[in-house]
Amino acid sequence: MIVTEVATFYLSMPEVSDRADGTQDTFLVRLRTDTGLEGWGESDAPPLVSMACYWCPPSHSNIVPLSKALVGARLDSVEDLHRVRREAITRALDIQQVHHAFSAADIALWDLLGKRLEVPVYELLDGPELPPRPKQPYASSLFGATPDETRALATGRRAAGFRAAKFGWGPFGVDRTINLAHATAAREGLGPETRLFIDAGWAWGHDADQALAGTMDLADLNVSWLEEPLLPDAIEGYRALAQMRPAIPIAAGESSGSVRQAEDFVVNGGVNYLQIDAGRIGGITAAHAARRVAERNDASYVNHTFKSHLSLAAALHVFTCASSHEIVEYAVDGSPLSANLVHDPLLPAADGTISLREEPGLGVEVDRDTVRRYLTPVEVRVAGRVLELGAQEV
Ligand SMILES: [Mg+2]
Repeated sequence: MIVTEVATFYLSMPEVSDRADGTQDTFLVRLRTDTGLEGWGESDAPPLVSMACYWCPPSHSNIVPLSKALVGARLDSVEDLHRVRREAITRALDIQQVHHAFSAADIALWDLLGKRLEVPVYELLDGPELPPRPKQPYASSLFGATPDETRALATGRRAAGFRAAKFGWGPFGVDRTINLAHATAAREGLGPETRLFIDAGWAWGHDADQALAGTMDLADLNVSWLEEPLLPDAIEGYRALAQMRPAIPIAAGESSGSVRQAEDFVVNGGVNYLQIDAGRIGGITAAHAARRVAERNDASYVNHTFKSHLSLAAALHVFTCASSHEIVEYAVDGSPLSANLVHDPLLPAADGTISLREEPGLGVEVDRDTVRRYLTPVEVRVAGRVLELGAQEV
């Protein structure tokens, strides 16, 4: 089949605040083909910057908009998909944002190819021999504004049937007394059995000694990992922290914009859990390659997903067949835009696990009414001329 149309959509809530909540806006790509099949994907990256990567006028032979390589591309096999991807990214490589922006197209290409070949994406990635496995979702949200709020949130997670939960950002930072109060409240609310993960939200910058002290403060709370205690580019800090053997496993990597960056976290930074966002690193293809990097270096792979269930499905296909990676980030408390973006969200089963459906492609269907409701029309005028921005109708 041939890709005949690229559409890029900027969706936004009416108000976007400074809160660390990535569901307030989003960037979608829809690819249509001559067969009538269409594929969808979502990037976790600034929507307008991402849109520019698809449509901005070329600057020279190595900065060519992504849409050029997609329209007219043949897509009948996994080899075709890798070729299209390579051509698009290679010609746009002078722009760092391109991996983030292309993530949505890569996910849409896998969705399309799965539908074309009538198999789920995970089968195209890992072969027909390995069955998909249910995973344990952890309810992922921000800390409350006060320890009492955090305790109430944690109590609610347990009551909702989650067997694991993560809290992060917000009040967690350099003040160790406040950190301990929130982490203790989270543990009290979850009870002793539910797994607790904590996202430190870059609390200690580049300072590995402070980060180590932070892990020691939490040592009695049975915390399953401490996430991003340092900044994403503090690779030496992560290595120093790993060499001091903290009592709590360290997780990082969600910022990875390429497989090479992901490799940096495990090979040079020594993190125990490599967290990869398929909507940032360059799509399902790059996330799957990062999973292999984790496996070669004795790290566990886990998704980072703070978007809709279109992104969650894409994230799960990457590692659902791998028995060694059993945890899934599962965002709760997202915006209505994010919560309603697909008709058929991936809800936990009675035993608390989540699974993909055995359907062709990604196995989720975009709700066009939601896309229309939050669609923010974009027009770019350069020297008096309105730029071509692809198909606009939903
Ligand atoms: Mg995080």
